[in-house]
Amino acid sequence: MNIFKKNYINGQWSDALSQKTYKVNNPATQEFIADVVDSGKEDAEKAVQSAHAALAGWSAVPPKEKANILKAWFNLIMENQEALAALMTSECGKPLVESRGEVVYGASFVEWNAEEAKRISGMTLPATAANKRLMTIRQGVGVCTAITPWNFPLAMITRKCAPAIAAGCTVVVKPAESTPLTALALAGLAAQAGIPEGVFNVVTASSGAEVGEVLSTHPFVRKISFTGSTAVGKILLKQAAGTVKRVSMELGGNAPFIVFDDADIDAAVTGAMASKFRNTGQTCVCANRFYVHESVASEFAEKLSKRVSQLVIGDGSKEGVDQGPLINIAAIDKVDSLVTDALQKGAKCLTGGKRHDLGGSFYEPTVLLNVTPQMSISQNEIFGPVVSIVTFSSQEEVIDLANDTVYGLAAYFYTRDLSRAINVSEQLEYGMVGINDGVISTEIAPFGGVKESGLGREGGQTGIDEFLETKYICISEV
Ligand code: ADP
Repeated sequence: MNIFKKNYINGQWSDALSQKTYKVNNPATQEFIADVVDSGKEDAEKAVQSAHAALAGWSAVPPKEKANILKAWFNLIMENQEALAALMTSECGKPLVESRGEVVYGASFVEWNAEEAKRISGMTLPATAANKRLMTIRQGVGVCTAITPWNFPLAMITRKCAPAIAAGCTVVVKPAESTPLTALALAGLAAQAGIPEGVFNVVTASSGAEVGEVLSTHPFVRKISFTGSTAVGKILLKQAAGTVKRVSMELGGNAPFIVFDDADIDAAVTGAMASKFRNTGQTCVCANRFYVHESVASEFAEKLSKRVSQLVIGDGSKEGVDQGPLINIAAIDKVDSLVTDALQKGAKCLTGGKRHDLGGSFYEPTVLLNVTPQMSISQNEIFGPVVSIVTFSSQEEVIDLANDTVYGLAAYFYTRDLSRAINVSEQLEYGMVGINDGVISTEIAPFGGVKESGLGREGGQTGIDEFLETKYICISEV
């Protein structure tokens, strides 16, 4: 698989009009990987123009042909699993085993939406008069833009672009500044798969604001899909309002992970490891606040700490490594300040609690007990390998605690009581709930949040709906 370093616009690999580039480094080793294009407004404009020019042609391609092209893209992604995984690990630091998993996960959205392309149907409706016939058709919304984060350099792109392309839309993607190479590799494979020029465009940039402004305000753009922080999501919502664009926002989370007194503690520990430590704690659905019933808190904390202290930390490209570095120094500074604050205010550290001896942005996987809901660590998205445990005594209390946040993405709880499973899942103000399960994302189910965690759903049947408009057609016999 080739390593591409230039923008992919209208089927061509192109430099920035300014000729500027920026450097991509490996977060585990700090080594230089590549110089890539540092795009400005004019490059974003060029990409939008290219998507606009390709729209009429692509939307007219018969669904089965769209499906076959997307299937070819899926096959190529899977055939290049190892190379894509190595590239991803080099730019975002996640362990190889997770990168391989992300390729499979990311590709699954391409396969699913290839299949969905053939099932975009409308309806016929009962008419209001004998001479009338009423129907609906569903059409792609038009030119779409996608702005994606570094924590899933591949899957966040396919999760947006595969349904958009299947729906007959054309797309411009701006990947995160730290992980442009995986996005460009996907573009290379898209070209190989026969996705026509202008249908899938990638512009890279060293910061999001300038390109992001064009992608969220350009009058040709009908929809913007964003995954990232709530702060940037709010900027994009404001910018998109000027031309009343459709929006999908997958924003921050502050996931509660509740362990009730009737839980299977060993299963809860396994779920906690999977939910908390994936991508070194840097996913938007990572458990952020652990609420453990006071009667089982010490057993849970002890068993979890034992598992956490066995994690192997290091360069994700080495086999056997469980935890890579955090994405950059700012990320580790934030995690360290949250842990230090909690310790100063009375939390007890069971394992970890400081920067790792490996230096750079490596942090020791950490378990903190005696955390209180008032500490900053309970109120902020940690985005790092830290378990912070608050104890509770009643179901009502823990539901209030869990819902006491502006976020509402994912929530998890462990119980063996069926009534509790039903009641608690209904009372949690979250877009997704895992019961006795710490890893819930799949291409088959709708992923997304409520409150300030976002708007819209990705995946499943709803994933493609986000890129379709329903048009009502009323026919009168004359
Ligand atoms: P994180 O803190 O996880 O990096 P961000 O929300 O800052 O989350 O970044 C997610 C994506 O949003 C990245 O592709 C980034 O370049 C982009 N981005 C950051 N700031 C802006 C902005 N002002 N406008 C548009 N995109 C932005």
